[in-house]
Amino acid sequence: MMLTCCTVCHDQLPDTAEVYACEACAYRLRAMLLELPGHMPLLAELLQPGSRLPGRGGAGRAHSPMPVRLDVMDLLGPGHIVVLADPHGDQSAGIPITPLLYGWARYIAASCPSVTRDRHGTVRIQPCDGPYSRHGSDAAAWCQWLIAYLPYAVTQSWIGDMYQQIEDLIRRVRDKTDRKPQRTQRSAPCPECSWLKLVSIEGEPHIVCEACGHRLTADEYKAHSAAVLPALTALAIRIHGQAAAEHPAA
Ligand SMILES: [Zn+2]
Ligand SMILES: [Zn+2]
Repeated sequence: MMLTCCTVCHDQLPDTAEVYACEACAYRLRAMLLELPGHMPLLAELLQPGSRLPGRGGAGRAHSPMPVRLDVMDLLGPGHIVVLADPHGDQSAGIPITPLLYGWARYIAASCPSVTRDRHGTVRIQPCDGPYSRHGSDAAAWCQWLIAYLPYAVTQSWIGDMYQQIEDLIRRVRDKTDRKPQRTQRSAPCPECSWLKLVSIEGEPHIVCEACGHRLTADEYKAHSAAVLPALTALAIRIHGQAAAEHPAA
């Protein structure tokens, strides 16, 4: 039976949707997988002891030099994982990038039967041997592989686990490279709580209220701001004009 709520954000899904994640969450997951490879060269640079990306903190080392930075090594290092071995535990903590991505690719490949046609034209459906990427076996290749399989992944009940683990991973990576998605403050107040807390976040299809969590699509925001902004602007000009009249510049 299909759920009626998104397993990631718990928003209502359309009744007819045969998926476990809403469009916005699928979009965000794709955006995270697109973003991840861009961090890899920065992490490789950070691997050197005492290295620090431009603009991060002061100079000088607090610890004696190590052959490599262990905190970055944790992310880049080799490893082998079985995803969903412990679906209720926080098992993604500390898993390096490529093994986590490859672990999901392997999991998806194992659950998604491969359909081939032999030379006599007979269709053969059999379990897949394992994921294969034409683009190699690094993090970027597995990100691309996972993006290609997202339409299948969202139809599976474990999509919420995959989302959470990738989100946790990207958070750990951003924390090291100090590259956060761009946020832009929007000028209209939130239609739900009236606070001026609506922001657009890079890789996020919605405009989100940071005070109450309300979300608007781009079209909804457009309609909302067109309805409220002219009146608010007129009010602001009037208040400003009044203040200027009461307190004329000396
Ligand atoms: Zn969702
Ligand atoms: Zn709000």
